[in-house]
Amino acid sequence: MTGAQSASNAFKVVLLGEGRVGKTSLLLRYVENTFSETQTPTVQATYLSKRVALENDGAATLNVWDTAGQERFHALGPIYYRDADAAVLVYDITDSDSFDRVKSWVKELRQIAGSEISLAVCANKSDLERARKVSQSDGETYAKSIGAAFFSTSAKADKGVAQAFMSVATALDAKR
Ligand code: GDP
Ligand code: MG
Repeated sequence: MTGAQSASNAFKVVLLGEGRVGKTSLLLRYVENTFSETQTPTVQATYLSKRVALENDGAATLNVWDTAGQERFHALGPIYYRDADAAVLVYDITDSDSFDRVKSWVKELRQIAGSEISLAVCANKSDLERARKVSQSDGETYAKSIGAAFFSTSAKADKGVAQAFMSVATALDAKR
């Protein structure tokens, strides 16, 4: 964490996961409380900020970085990861490949951002229970194996989203 960031209790959080898993949707649900079924608006900025009130009466600012779709080419580049304090790893519960791919994102992340980084796993699209391909226990077991908190989320139904980001903020504040 840089000095400037710690002074304002601001943290860089990166969203990671395959294309179409719902990264942008989770961010827009969290920051703007919106959801788009068809076309997810491109987030123009490299990150969106949200000030979070913590349970210990403190506050933190999460600067949540989203990709512009370049994850499809598996080329996020070091600037995306550099100085990240936390990563939110996202997969789609109806897509087993997206779950398998989380492991490669974590590997790349650790090569660039180190092993100190706080992690949360979002098993997204939990509203699509009938089409589920990845069991919750597989998700939880994996999250545990990498020391990450696990959240079942739905950007669409607004389930687990605030909780996931809150856990990241709380963990980062406690580490400071
Ligand atoms: P990204 O490529 O990872 O940023 O994924 P997007 O946020 O663009 O979402 C891809 C598609 O999945 C869009 O059509 C979204 O409407 C849809 N989507 C995202 N989150 C959810 C969710 O929680 N439930 C459902 N049913 N669809 C979702
Ligand atoms: Mg996106």
